[in-house]
Amino acid sequence: MTIAIIAHDGKKADMVAFIKDHTELFQKKHIQLIATGTTGSHLEKAGLEVAKMESGPMGGDAQIASRLVEGKIDMVIFFRDPLGKHPHEVDVNMLMRLCDVYNIPLATNHAAAMRFIQTL
Ligand code: PGA
Repeated sequence: MTIAIIAHDGKKADMVAFIKDHTELFQKKHIQLIATGTTGSHLEKAGLEVAKMESGPMGGDAQIASRLVEGKIDMVIFFRDPLGKHPHEVDVNMLMRLCDVYNIPLATNHAAAMRFIQTL
């Protein structure tokens, strides 16, 4: 099972706290992680193995969307910052649309992410 993890800058601290609370789960052999660049660096610092894409504004969300279309991603956890402005908003919208097209579970906030991982 491959889980994509992405966090907007305003939600990075929230994402790191979430990851630290569940490190043991994310280290399990059957779980692979993929992340946008900066989010991925945070995951590595927390001791997790992760496939790092480009940073979000440089196309990282688009790379994750492409892998999702190829059937390589089973869940997306996206800590979105609804109060910030993001230069790559179109990429984010594309990723979320493709989650719906391909029926891939998408959590867009901490509470939803908590519910999602209970299923793992
Ligand atoms: P980042 O990208 O992990 O490289 O910061 C996340 C995003 O804003 O899409």
